[in-house]
Amino acid sequence: MKDIAYTRVESVGAALDSWRRHPDAMYLAGGTTMVDLLREGVFMPETVIDISGLPLREIRVDREFTRVGAMVANSDLAWNPAIRTLFPVISQAVLAGASGQIRNMASTGGNLLQRTRCPYYRDLGAACNKRSPGSGCAAIGGFNRSHAILGGSEHCIATHPSDLAVALTALDARIRVAGPDGEREIPITEFYLPPGDTPQRETTLERGELILAVHLPHAPSARNSHYFKVRDRQSFEFALASSAVAADLVEGKFAHVRIALGGVGTVPWRARAAERVLEGQAPSEMLFAGAAAEAVTGAVPRRHNAFKTTLIQRTLAAALRRLAEPS
Ligand code: SF4
Repeated sequence: MKDIAYTRVESVGAALDSWRRHPDAMYLAGGTTMVDLLREGVFMPETVIDISGLPLREIRVDREFTRVGAMVANSDLAWNPAIRTLFPVISQAVLAGASGQIRNMASTGGNLLQRTRCPYYRDLGAACNKRSPGSGCAAIGGFNRSHAILGGSEHCIATHPSDLAVALTALDARIRVAGPDGEREIPITEFYLPPGDTPQRETTLERGELILAVHLPHAPSARNSHYFKVRDRQSFEFALASSAVAADLVEGKFAHVRIALGGVGTVPWRARAAERVLEGQAPSEMLFAGAAAEAVTGAVPRRHNAFKTTLIQRTLAAALRRLAEPS
């Protein structure tokens, strides 16, 4: 087993200084995904920089947006009263994922950067372009029940596993990051990269950058938002299909509609065509079905996951039904 150097930092500046000295290092936050991957040999960095002590644990409601620090634990995020009131979809999505113990350890930033649950990714004996670029993709011709029907390429069809990222996509969240060249903000719809020819590159983070916070705009529809998830068992399981929806109802008609899908895309999947179907229309079962059909435009089902094309439509219709209920 390879030795890995470990260093712990207490400030963002110290984290970046440490990365400059060790440019092949990886950051470690809650460790709920990364420690497994280090043990399994998927990651083999020379150095790990432990950033779990960074002072980024605040949830602050400002005038135009709410700021969630990157080190806020998933459980603290889910149960925060302001989050539950202003952005219920976040609370519902986080509580639908993992176990209580994992949620106590996992950080907000780490949740967004968790790695795919494609089993071949963690199997060092299998071909996997994401783990070992150019080696092939065992899932495309293999067992692909859990894999993506939207956003895949001939090089990778792995789903993105984060429930939180799906909720944030329906809220037009922005990711605040810091790196060697300073700070910047990335809209979440530009944060994740579909696999294309380079499935090993999953986000637009540059080398050395780390997440500082998530900014949640106080959009009119955020308070009326909902997450609906279907999985193989009711606890501690990743989504087969999930829908995050947010919308206002103005004089009985949908407005400011936002939809994101999980469990079916290689990235948290923003369903803009479905949003357009709903905008300005009164809720009805026929409308939900029409929007759901738009949401799967371009889907490419594989041998074992064709059921997802139907399941995600039903999931989205269920979420929209809940959204349209009088509160
Ligand atoms: Fe690897 Fe992606 Fe293929 Fe899974 S789907 S084996 S992660 S390349």
